[in-house]
Amino acid sequence: MSSHDFDLFVIGGGSGGVRAARMAAQRGARVALAEMLGQDGLGGTCVNVGCIPKKLYSYAAHYHAAFEESRGFGWELDTAPRFQWATLKANRAKEITRLNGVYGNLLRGSGVTVFNGFARLDGEHRITLATLNADGSPGHQSFTAAHILIATGGTPHVPHFVGREHVITSNEVFDLEPFPQRLLIVGGGYIACEFASIFNGLGAKVTQLYRGEQVLRGFDDEIRHFVAGEMQKSGVDLRLNAGVVDIRKTDEGLRAELEDGNVVLADAVLYATGRTPNVQGLGLDAAGVAQGAQGEVLVDEHYRTNVPHVYAVGDVTSRVQLTPVALGEAMVVVDQLFGPAAGKPPRSMGYDFIPTAVFTHPSIGTVGLSEAQARERFGDVTIFRSEFKALRHTLSGSSERTLMKLVVDTASDRVVGLHMVGAEAGEIVQGFAVAMKAGATKAVFDATIGIHPTAAEEFVTMREPVRN
Ligand code: FAD
Ligand code: NDP
Repeated sequence: MSSHDFDLFVIGGGSGGVRAARMAAQRGARVALAEMLGQDGLGGTCVNVGCIPKKLYSYAAHYHAAFEESRGFGWELDTAPRFQWATLKANRAKEITRLNGVYGNLLRGSGVTVFNGFARLDGEHRITLATLNADGSPGHQSFTAAHILIATGGTPHVPHFVGREHVITSNEVFDLEPFPQRLLIVGGGYIACEFASIFNGLGAKVTQLYRGEQVLRGFDDEIRHFVAGEMQKSGVDLRLNAGVVDIRKTDEGLRAELEDGNVVLADAVLYATGRTPNVQGLGLDAAGVAQGAQGEVLVDEHYRTNVPHVYAVGDVTSRVQLTPVALGEAMVVVDQLFGPAAGKPPRSMGYDFIPTAVFTHPSIGTVGLSEAQARERFGDVTIFRSEFKALRHTLSGSSERTLMKLVVDTASDRVVGLHMVGAEAGEIVQGFAVAMKAGATKAVFDATIGIHPTAAEEFVTMREPVRN
């Protein structure tokens, strides 16, 4: 046991921080965790203003179409369903508070000392915690630790322009008051697209502006075009190569003047233009921790910063900003510092074949390389593609379509990209990600028996390539 107050001090009680703290404590380490938002912040972005409330709101939005579609299956609704925004917000808040409590209990139950305060690095072994004294005046506490883990996550980034003070970010969108009948969304990434679908489904008139040729840069091109088309079909007014000049508050609402001279009136404007790492006031400069151009903490393949004993995981490193990635990285650090779980080899983290979903309506599920990336890496690739109307929509009256696509490295026959736009894409692709990680070839896909009737069976029944 070291002479320090703790073996590990974790800064940040989000996905990566909580996982690292719990796992390290379970291995017998003396662990502290500081969360600047206290109990209400436990779980971090994902639990409080990210994955979980977003998915709950996505479920809420799906009911809109489900009510409509139920008629084709014989259901008659005596009165038109009415959406109560206040009920959704209150129920979400209750569930998030429950989850905050679960996280607190898990931490304390594992023996982690949880501090409520803003932590700052004071050297390679020292942390200073800004807290409140009993009389409410500011105070501070100082601790030493053998190892420090920075897991402070990120925060929404809004560019500078006239009227910036009128816009909100994903942090505020969950509790908007009143419900925005007209919502303008700026951005074309995960958050912009997901909230465009969500608020469109909840009944708002949604206009989405994206500065480039097509939303979701980095995803497979065919998938990007397909999902954009489906979102437009469902009512999102998506405008490409579009941007805001300024935003003014008027009697008619927020008035956004666009670069093409058009004007959009909205009750709320959501900027979803990326996130920057939470490093302000962390003391990184003083401690000599190297940072990248956006302030992100630079780490090596073992998540070590350039300062000995100081590690970083998750969004603060600005690599892959996904909760399961932060969790995976945290566990690698714990295995390195305190040894693997009994009978298990030390964990490692691979960045190939990380599956991901975008919870648009319909959703995207994807794992591996896009067609363009695969062509660049392998040259000769074979593409299998299937587009169809899902069985459910033969009676639902919906014109929604599903797209599935396989990208195969022709030389090795390995499936290197698997993409889908359609209902429950994330649920479907998660299973296929295991096969892809294991190196499954197209021959293995072909030899797999489908589950009928499902949409997922298309992935094992596509026989004829569309191009190579
Ligand atoms: P965080 O979860 O952000 O946690 C960092 C914590 O550190 C915060 O609680 C913060 O208060 C605290 N903190 C910061 N500075 C200090 C300090 N100096 N002292 C003490 N505490 C501090 N990912 C998915 O995989 N699936 C999704 O569906 C998904 N949806 C998302 C939807 C939205 C709207 C957003 C914004 C993100 C979404 N993400 C999703 C991304 C996911 O939330 C993040 O990748 C994940 O939360 C990163 O975890 P983390 O531990 O790095 O940081
Ligand atoms: P993204 O990086 O995904 O998207 C940012 C978007 O904003 C891009 O379309 C970008 O355009 C655009 N943009 C950036 N700067 C400007 C600007 N100055 N003016 C106009 N547009 C701009 O970030 P998000 O905020 O959507 O999400 C952050 C991360 O959180 C995601 O990358 C993802 O890792 C994670 N997340 C995951 C989810 C999931 O797993 N389902 C859901 C939500 C978030 P361009 O492409 O041209 O650069």
